[in-house]
Amino acid sequence: MERSKFMSCSWLQVDGAKELIRGDKQPSEAIAKLMRYMLDTYALAAVRIHQPASRKNSTQVTHELLGDRTIPRRLNQVITLPSDYVRSLDTPEFRIKIYDNSTEPNPVSGSVNEKYVTIFLKQIFNGEFSGILELTLPDETRYPSEKDEDVLVALGNLMFEQILLYEKKSTPSIHGSSGEVLDYLTGLHRYETFVDNLDTKISELVDDDHALVIVCSDINHFKLVNENLGYRKGDELLRATGQIILEIPDLVDACRFYSDNFIMAVRSSSPDISRIRSRIESNNQKNSEALQVMCSDTQIRINSGIYVITDPKLDAASAISYANTARKRAKVFNGVHAVVFTEAMIEELRRSDELNNELPKAIRNHNIMVYYQPKISCADETITGAEALVRWRRDDGSFIYPDQFIPQFENNGNIIRLDYFVYDEVFKFLRNRLDNNVSVVPISMNVSRRHLENEDILFYIEHLINKYDMDPKYLEFELTESIYIDNVEPALNFISRCNQMGIKVSMDDFGSGYSSLNMISSIPIDVLKIDGVFMHRGKTLNDNDKIVLNNVINMAKELKMVVLCEGVETREQVDFLKEAGCDVIQGYFFGKPMPETDFEEFMEQFA
Ligand code: C2E
Ligand code: CA
Ligand code: CA
Repeated sequence: MERSKFMSCSWLQVDGAKELIRGDKQPSEAIAKLMRYMLDTYALAAVRIHQPASRKNSTQVTHELLGDRTIPRRLNQVITLPSDYVRSLDTPEFRIKIYDNSTEPNPVSGSVNEKYVTIFLKQIFNGEFSGILELTLPDETRYPSEKDEDVLVALGNLMFEQILLYEKKSTPSIHGSSGEVLDYLTGLHRYETFVDNLDTKISELVDDDHALVIVCSDINHFKLVNENLGYRKGDELLRATGQIILEIPDLVDACRFYSDNFIMAVRSSSPDISRIRSRIESNNQKNSEALQVMCSDTQIRINSGIYVITDPKLDAASAISYANTARKRAKVFNGVHAVVFTEAMIEELRRSDELNNELPKAIRNHNIMVYYQPKISCADETITGAEALVRWRRDDGSFIYPDQFIPQFENNGNIIRLDYFVYDEVFKFLRNRLDNNVSVVPISMNVSRRHLENEDILFYIEHLINKYDMDPKYLEFELTESIYIDNVEPALNFISRCNQMGIKVSMDDFGSGYSSLNMISSIPIDVLKIDGVFMHRGKTLNDNDKIVLNNVINMAKELKMVVLCEGVETREQVDFLKEAGCDVIQGYFFGKPMPETDFEEFMEQFA
């Protein structure tokens, strides 16, 4: 049988599932049917339902369907999940978590199994954590994209609706004028109804004089509202947002897509896109202020992506996906509240999707590789360490450099899987050399800001230390300076846990734009990495550069930090830095990032 891959995640599958259980009087039957349906549709190895158990921080697997069975089991086995894990699941914004079991241990079984990838979908109903849907997929399946995730979340919701019905905890659903079920929180349409209606509305309402404006909006940092003020306050905010939307003049229809994501269709007689944009922007500004009153501690900002439909033949799904693409861009810019979709975004999205899809295969086929760039001690010009830098080799032999995929992966969260792979490779490399009794230097690894959203990374590092029986003195983690400003608390937590484990932490890219001097005095880092911009790609240093570098180096030394300069390309620069008291140098002058075997030779030469 041809296995359908996640590639085929589609809203039709949600419709199919609904159709399947239509008229079922027994929720337990509906649950069984839905589990079977998910297992078959996605060729899964297992579907499991976890519900909160009476013991704190534990969940109970209540239903399980394995690929080799036809009937789900009802279980009563309590699995106490590691508290960090439940905590990380219970962070408000998270709705889906993916473990690549070839590199990360499955948090439930604790084992690493190369054959499987595990997806956890968190379920929140009426503001309460209601459980987790666990899907185990064979590893040849590609990772779900953001759209696939939306479909999975919708399917999960459908299943948990039945579970809550079964337990009679569910609230009575509310209905609209034509009997359709409405979003229970806001009273807006549900996504499926919205899309169904929109296709008709586009052909009816778009003509030579009128456009239909699709606006996808979300509340920036909504997760902080939930985190700081609780789910109930979060729900209140969503309800208020729903009210504000219903009052928009010329509103044709609106829905809550999921969580804090709303979609609106507004009719406009003005084809002037910049006027439409500024109107939405000032609306967002006004509404953000209205919502702000409800949450004094957390900064509320509404972001919108806009697509203006002028073609009556366009389908609703495309229009929404364009507006949603623009919304994601709106999130990136500080201070901008509304972004209009452009064609260039499609290309960006296509590239990002392509890389996203290729990642698992690239990891498996060893097309993702770790290069090492040596760090040289100023005192005697011997090697004192190296930085691990990722490289992606395409099948045709060409390389894709980190700048072309790291930013995208930071956006869609794939950076976590990529970094875990890199760390594993580094540990493996170190272990190999230790086993062979050859010299070893500490290796530093880059940490993306996405890692600081929860504590998984710390547990992963611990896992690797145990797996490879590694002495932490060979490890260092680099956090870029802007992380320390945007995420002070999690960064401090990360540093102190690394300190406890005996691992060094450095501040990367110091001076590249964000630094504040009082910041470095209050953060207990071991190594200050001065950004390569000061070296101007090998140009002669001017007097002002020298003054700045001299002072920064002195300051760091007084703060008892090791000082490293990056991007050093000339002997003249090396000599100046030695004179200025810099401890370590990294740059093309001594060595470019190089493959493992070249690096091993380099180590012999510079020992
Ligand atoms: P970074 O951490 O600041 O890494 C240093 C970058 O400067 C590397 O670029 C390196 O090749 C380059 N470089 C080193 N010496 C010189 C020099 O003398 N002159 C010049 N012009 N450039 C030099 P690369 O490898 O392209 O990496 C770019 C960025 O991508 C890195 O900046 C880092 O932020 C990110 N990155 C790379 N690998 C990883 C990874 O495994 N995980 C994460 N999260 N980020 C990574
Ligand atoms: Ca770095
Ligand atoms: Ca750097």
